[in-house]
Amino acid sequence: MGRTQRRRLKRAKQSGGGSNSLQELYVHLHSLGWQNHTHLSAQNYDQTGRGLCSKQDSFSPEDELIRLPIGCLISIATLESDEAFKSLFNKELFDKDSRISFQALVACYLLYSKHLLECSLETLHTFYASYLDTIPTSYSTPYFCSIPELQCLPESLLERTVAQNRQIRGYFEIIKSLVLNCDCCGKSYGQEIWTLAQFKWAYFTVNTRSVYLSSRFLKKQSSHFQALISGDTNLALAPFLDLFNHSDSVQTTAEIEGQDYVLTLKSLPVPKTKPYDQLFISYGALSNFKLLTEYGFWLKGNKHDYFEFSLLDIEHMVKRNKELSTQTYHRNIFKFIREHNLNDQMFVHIDDGCSHNLKVVLHLIFKQQSYFPNILNQIAFGDAEQFEDVQPELSYLVSYKIEEYEIFGGELDKLPKLTESGAVARSYLQECVRYLSDYHAAHPAE
Ligand SMILES: [Zn+2]
Repeated sequence: MGRTQRRRLKRAKQSGGGSNSLQELYVHLHSLGWQNHTHLSAQNYDQTGRGLCSKQDSFSPEDELIRLPIGCLISIATLESDEAFKSLFNKELFDKDSRISFQALVACYLLYSKHLLECSLETLHTFYASYLDTIPTSYSTPYFCSIPELQCLPESLLERTVAQNRQIRGYFEIIKSLVLNCDCCGKSYGQEIWTLAQFKWAYFTVNTRSVYLSSRFLKKQSSHFQALISGDTNLALAPFLDLFNHSDSVQTTAEIEGQDYVLTLKSLPVPKTKPYDQLFISYGALSNFKLLTEYGFWLKGNKHDYFEFSLLDIEHMVKRNKELSTQTYHRNIFKFIREHNLNDQMFVHIDDGCSHNLKVVLHLIFKQQSYFPNILNQIAFGDAEQFEDVQPELSYLVSYKIEEYEIFGGELDKLPKLTESGAVARSYLQECVRYLSDYHAAHPAE
């Protein structure tokens, strides 16, 4: 799909900082060894908001987009070498049963840098000042929807948002119980300085802007935070580099070469870019659901999109379908499906059709009479051809979802005003309806 056809929603609001802070950021990154050999600069684009281009260079596959010294990244090495930040954490209180993710710790580091700037106007931290200025002030993930908006979201979005909330609140509680006072103002970070709202912002800053960085490329540091962190530490914030927007029609690789973090273009929808064209990278083969819930935007006609169903969707569909609702379904069948995780990976894809698991599940529920586990087992893991008879039920399911999403969209439209997150979620529902309708047209029931 061509760039002009694609309606892209802004990844995030324009940040407060203008070109001045970007200019300062250039200077600081330059002092850390960045050459900007591809002459990248930031521009505002209608479709994406701020993004990157080169005013001089054209790019073809195999060309490097950026080569940023690892020292410019904010990684575990940065945190472990910052003595003042480390001393903020009372190591005595680290508890193996209440650990936080590295992402939460980096979020903490952002808030810490922010407070130091406000508190002491420390000149050493001008790098952070200019970087913090380039970060958006808000995010448009459904997580930031208002309560009335959340009430109009489908189960899958709501579930993801609730899970994010549980995690973020949990981490913030742990952090608050560990951190000490600010050396400058004497106030307590946990009680007086940091708020949950700020932590949410910082958490999503890391969520939307970090890059993958394998920790084997980092020098072995002291490990002050080892007993605090659960999981790995292989992410980093990448100032300036994080201004690249995502596209589903490019492929890029990220590699460490010597002391540099290098992004290379691997494929493009056109043979060559032109100067001033926005340059995109790939954040991965991500569906619109993932893009929306993690980054706060989605892509029209996203190449990597698919639509996922839950077992609950099937149960709801049965209740609403006159023909199906008169039949009885033995609970053993549902139990069997759950026990064998057949309800994972139940999706439709516009080109590839219905996923194997979705066919198996529909077949087990609607197309056979047995409810004994050994028989269900034989059927579920037997000949795949037998599952081809579920087209009518699949068709009901798709229609049911289209209707449901249209209703949710209508509910959102009734609200007096939508937040940015609400508006993005609204348009996402519309894209889902379009996707499912196109699926329907491409795969009609016989
Ligand atoms: Zn202070």
